[in-house]
Amino acid sequence: MRSSFSPRLMSHVRTIEQQVGSGREEPRHMFPQRAGSHLSAEQLGTPALAFVRSVCAIMSLDERVEDEVALMRKNLLRMVHCKEFSDAAVFREPCLSFVLRNFICTYCNDCCDLDVCRDADIQAKRWVCRSPACGMPYDRDVVEQRLMEEVQRAGAAFQLQDLRCRKCAQTASGHMGDRCACGGLLENTNAPPKHISKLQVFHNIAEHHSFELLRETVAWLLREGASE
Ligand SMILES: [Zn+2]
Ligand SMILES: [Zn+2]
Ligand SMILES: [Zn+2]
Repeated sequence: MRSSFSPRLMSHVRTIEQQVGSGREEPRHMFPQRAGSHLSAEQLGTPALAFVRSVCAIMSLDERVEDEVALMRKNLLRMVHCKEFSDAAVFREPCLSFVLRNFICTYCNDCCDLDVCRDADIQAKRWVCRSPACGMPYDRDVVEQRLMEEVQRAGAAFQLQDLRCRKCAQTASGHMGDRCACGGLLENTNAPPKHISKLQVFHNIAEHHSFELLRETVAWLLREGASE
């Protein structure tokens, strides 16, 4: 069975390449644009490449077929003209997630966790209660308020974090200035790129669902972060 797997995958990849191509010609072939989307066009590549990356990532979870999968991956990547060790060959989660915990419906008091980036109803802009007996719309202002609180928490965590000395690696809190006692330069322990990509998700959520206040707040924080 294992031996017939690789040729079959190759024929699937060939079909995708022939019928979908670059994935940019027809809207139905394009990568979906979701609030959690965060990969660049280069990182996404073609649909055939995305298929190869996903299949190989799933199959590599089974350590017993490690060598076979490594070889298959190499061959499939060559088929889609992607270098084995290039950035585009790396599998990345295509859609980030953001979960609003314990969100309460103001009509029925039902309490649930909402994945704002991945939930299918929310993606379709249907903010409605999950309880089958209820189904009433959620109050958009309440949703936006909860998201604002999350952004403020993320922003505060960034500002309150410790600084670490580049030279002696000691952390310094409540410091004055940007230098350690040893003369080394202090830097944030939570590197800005990670923080910024988290804010970027909130920015996408705000744009996707037209939360104006959230969008402005995040845009301001992103500008602040970029100027540091
Ligand atoms: Zn409800
Ligand atoms: Zn130091
Ligand atoms: Zn924007």
